[in-house]
Amino acid sequence: MADIIQLLPDHVANQIAAGEVVQRPASVVKELLENAIDAGADTIKLIIKDAGKTLVQVIDNGKGMSSTDARLSFERHATSKIKNAEDLFQLHTKGFRGEALASIAAIAHVELKTKQEADDVGQVLVIEGSEVTSQDVVVTPTGTSVSVKNLFFNIPARRNFLKSDNVELRHVIDEFHRVALAHPNISFALYNNGSESFNLPISNYRQRIVNIFGNKTNEKLVPVEEDTEVLKISGFVGKPEFAKKTRGEQYFFVNDRFIKSAYLNHAISSAFEGLLKTGMHASYFLNLTVDPQTIDINIHPTKTEIKFDDEHTLYAILRAAVKHSLGQFNIAPVLDFERDPNLDTPYNYKENSTSAPKVEVDRSFNPFNEAPATRHQSSGGSSSSFRSAPVKQTPSDWESLYVGLESKSNHNTEEGFSEVQFESEEETLSMFEGDNQVEQTHTTYQLHNKYIVSTIKSGMLIIDQYKAHQRVLYEEFLRNMTTREGVSQQLLFPLQLHFSPQDIAIVKQLKSDLEHTGFVFATVEEELVEITGVPVGVPESEVSIILEQLISDVENEVPDSNFSATDLLAKSMAKSLAIKTGQALKKDEQEHLVNKLFACKDPNVSPSNRVTFVTMSVDELDKKFI
Ligand code: ADP
Ligand code: MG
Repeated sequence: MADIIQLLPDHVANQIAAGEVVQRPASVVKELLENAIDAGADTIKLIIKDAGKTLVQVIDNGKGMSSTDARLSFERHATSKIKNAEDLFQLHTKGFRGEALASIAAIAHVELKTKQEADDVGQVLVIEGSEVTSQDVVVTPTGTSVSVKNLFFNIPARRNFLKSDNVELRHVIDEFHRVALAHPNISFALYNNGSESFNLPISNYRQRIVNIFGNKTNEKLVPVEEDTEVLKISGFVGKPEFAKKTRGEQYFFVNDRFIKSAYLNHAISSAFEGLLKTGMHASYFLNLTVDPQTIDINIHPTKTEIKFDDEHTLYAILRAAVKHSLGQFNIAPVLDFERDPNLDTPYNYKENSTSAPKVEVDRSFNPFNEAPATRHQSSGGSSSSFRSAPVKQTPSDWESLYVGLESKSNHNTEEGFSEVQFESEEETLSMFEGDNQVEQTHTTYQLHNKYIVSTIKSGMLIIDQYKAHQRVLYEEFLRNMTTREGVSQQLLFPLQLHFSPQDIAIVKQLKSDLEHTGFVFATVEEELVEITGVPVGVPESEVSIILEQLISDVENEVPDSNFSATDLLAKSMAKSLAIKTGQALKKDEQEHLVNKLFACKDPNVSPSNRVTFVTMSVDELDKKFI
């Protein structure tokens, strides 16, 4: 039989390699920014058009390339950064695989301009699908500019696979943040579709974080410093009261490289144990410095996962350092009231000098312009943890959740209960055909503060209270938003909430929908949202949680074709406000929920498509006793 194995042509090999390195515009951003850093630049500009699909350009003032190097840089496995395998364990550069430019050039139109300090003129190269189409001299400043246009122009399948501009831009910005956070000693700017989105001057680490995430971040940060033989840690963790529902602001850098590590993340979570409500995530910005010999970065093409020689030790040091910081800044532990505070210093820290205790004063606090309920959100320190400790919800809190729902018919809570029961009983009949009707007698029972069990003619009904209530609220909010009838309740004092500029952008996007539910905004500006009215029935103390949840949902949702802001908002608010698992319900509340659920258009599933109830017939039960 004839020989059938052939060597792949270079441009095909490059396209295949590109699949590993370049998944989306953000991957190009990462590679180009890293090259600029490796070139020793201290000013780097990133220019994006159409979320990077049309253009990603990085301009640096680094050392530039000679004309031969400029051409060679696009060859596969062409790198100036390592010479032999041993160098892999002494890495001080971001790149070393020599495949980024080759990969990018295989799947986009690339223009490179570069000049070295000593030269009068530079080089301009144009490459399309791995082919150098021109190389000329050009007048250009010292440094390098790489423009990557029309990504995946020659691989339509991959281009179609890209997400909406919103999503791709989010990835680009995430990447930009990661690189910018790792290098506060370099100034970065990001221009998106012609306007400046970020301008980050050279600064210290704290200032860099604040420049990226907003001024209010400053008061959230608790410094973490540790210096051991195997590991040096510096950076910040976020105070527990500012923990988020998303894992958004979690950054590990190892030797200035952003990495993902579930294991090290666990070390932080365990240091925060007892300080965070379930489902909340602490933020952190931590730089770990280790001997390059003790890590292997080469296990993943994009180098975001690395292998440590001694992970267990790093885990222990990291956990102890974070715990120590939380203790030192009087943040942990405050939940255990019986504890002798003198025992709270977490462990023998080898710091030899003692310093006077710091008193944290919230200088921006003005008793006249904030409602009392909002104070705990802005004040730092341990005392706030007392105030924000979970308060047992009283039944009246719970009932108030329904007030908004009855708002259109304008009856008060008590009337609401009986009348709605009456109304929905009728609807219930039509929902449950034949012998499945919910019996009118008081036959509900709450199981484990989680399920409501009710009898129906054919047997029994088991309702998940959280999911069911979400469905009820979801339909109600959706109705209010579409009919624009959400009724608002005026707040006595405006509620001020602080968000990062990115989060504010999301609030702006959803503002009009929020207004239809009953929110009234006095201001939505750079980092501040001021609210003067909330939907009837929404407790003031829940407002910040609702908005947080909403922002995190918008960030996580992949807002593609069938994305509807209204729908997301209704879902998100329902999720925040629904009675949770664990909440004891009185008999009439249980019945009310059952009735409301079956008055819904689609009672079978929660807004996120989970089953809200199951039934078990007497027949099925009988079978179990055979
Ligand atoms: P790697 O970074 O892994 O070496 P790349 O394909 O990203 O591989 O880059 C290839 C080479 O091109 C680099 O080793 C470097 O010598 C050169 N190069 C790339 N970008 C720049 C830049 N912005 N400034 C100077 N040299 C660069
Ligand atoms: Mg590189």
